[in-house]
Amino acid sequence: MTEPLFSPEDVISAYQRVNLVGNARVPSGAGIKVLNPATGAVLGEAAASTAAETADAVKQAKQAQIAWAQVPARDRGKAVAAAARAVAAQAELIAQVLARETGKAIRTECRGEVAVAADIVEFYGGLGSELKGQTVPYNPRMLTMTMREPLGVVAAIVPWNVPLVLFALKVAPALVAGNAVVVKSSEEAPFATYLMAELMMQHLPAGVLNVVNGTGAECGTALTSHSDVAKITFTGSEAVGELINKIGAGRIIPVSLELGGKSAMIVCADADLDKAVAGAISGMRFTRQGQSCTAASRIYVHDALYDAFMQRLGAALDKLVIGDPLNEATDVGTIINAKQVATINRYIAQAEATPGARVHRFGRLPEDDTLSADLFAQPTILTGLPDDHPCVMEEIFGPVAVVQAWSDYETVLRLANSTHYGLAASVWTRSLATALDSTARLNAGYVQVNQNLTIQPNVSYGGFGRSGQGKEASLEAMVEHFTRSKTIVMNFD
Ligand code: NAD
Repeated sequence: MTEPLFSPEDVISAYQRVNLVGNARVPSGAGIKVLNPATGAVLGEAAASTAAETADAVKQAKQAQIAWAQVPARDRGKAVAAAARAVAAQAELIAQVLARETGKAIRTECRGEVAVAADIVEFYGGLGSELKGQTVPYNPRMLTMTMREPLGVVAAIVPWNVPLVLFALKVAPALVAGNAVVVKSSEEAPFATYLMAELMMQHLPAGVLNVVNGTGAECGTALTSHSDVAKITFTGSEAVGELINKIGAGRIIPVSLELGGKSAMIVCADADLDKAVAGAISGMRFTRQGQSCTAASRIYVHDALYDAFMQRLGAALDKLVIGDPLNEATDVGTIINAKQVATINRYIAQAEATPGARVHRFGRLPEDDTLSADLFAQPTILTGLPDDHPCVMEEIFGPVAVVQAWSDYETVLRLANSTHYGLAASVWTRSLATALDSTARLNAGYVQVNQNLTIQPNVSYGGFGRSGQGKEASLEAMVEHFTRSKTIVMNFD
């Protein structure tokens, strides 16, 4: 391997216009500028991989996978667990790079993201022995069994909002199951992913983990359409997910998709108000500028609690410090780029133009000339909107939540299920009967009661409807989505 990297600047400079293929930094011809969203400064140029460069990574992966699949599963797991420890040992450096390229605050977001990513990799490292098949009682004089075997080369595509956790959720189970992986990092935020991958590679045979960077149109399409890719796992937008699903269907290969969301949070009259307010702030991921697919962006509060909830939520949001992501005092950093800011502002303008609606903005934008003011956004609550308003029905992917009052339980359940998404939901109540009834009837893949936690290792995570297909984060996810089942019938009669 190459020389150790000591500072965020070292890291960024080491990964200028390279891909990580066969455990080496392979120069790539062209580059894509990566900006620090908080300052507007150019951090550097990541690779803009061509179709041919992407195909080279797939070729290396294909060769490496043959020997990797022969390594006993538990030993593959041990290598992956060692890779997790290598990541954890460099957690601060990775977090510093992540904060620079994503604009997410180092204290409230980036350190936590690296810790969760390393934890997920370590969790999967312990699951090698769980890749079990079954014996089948078909005929007492025959041995009939199923075996789980790897798929081959997995293409993994990640977005910019939580790139390391999403990288971990795909790469770790794929590797432990005996696949080789080619990751396409997000062109908005590639460098922390590169660092995490390179640290992991120190414990993996050359070629089983490869990272290419590039545009979706060229590098992404080349990867998903490659005839040696046996599985695609994608997290990103609904539109790109649909496109990738069509490519997978055409090639008849499995595709896992984690797409958008518009998650409902139902606060019942008997809820613990303080817990619900804290849960709204953490669930809405206000410290990630709301850039989360799971964001609790539709908050339905019972009439009896509505005024108190709004008052306490506003007071808490006002205390969030918006500013330089690298400053330890900062709670809320920046939006990823100007395009995303324009989308957020378009939705807010639609709300402002709606009779009866109100836009409540909280916190203060930073007044620091060294920061690029345009990419900071205040936590915003929209109220008084019609139930079918675009701000209620569509994913905004910014720090904008809708709060609606409710009084009828059946109506609020219907509204909660009224978008085409189905990623997550939460219910806030002290009643077990309400919790049991509502969780059974909510159309979402990840439903929580009295909490709004993010992804946890060992807890299956994934959406229904247009939020995607497949699960992540669990044993079930590894076995179902990164292996295939082979049936063997032995007859020695
Ligand atoms: P995006 O779909 O634009 O990009 C995601 C990734 O796909 C990037 O690496 C991009 O380069 C690549 N890509 C783009 N076009 C491609 C193509 N034609 N072929 C192959 N790859 C292509 O999404 P984004 O803006 O980076 O991320 C935000 C989106 O991600 C939001 O919609 C959010 O809801 C979703 N998301 C979902 C989850 C989840 O778990 N459900 C988690 C995080 C983010």
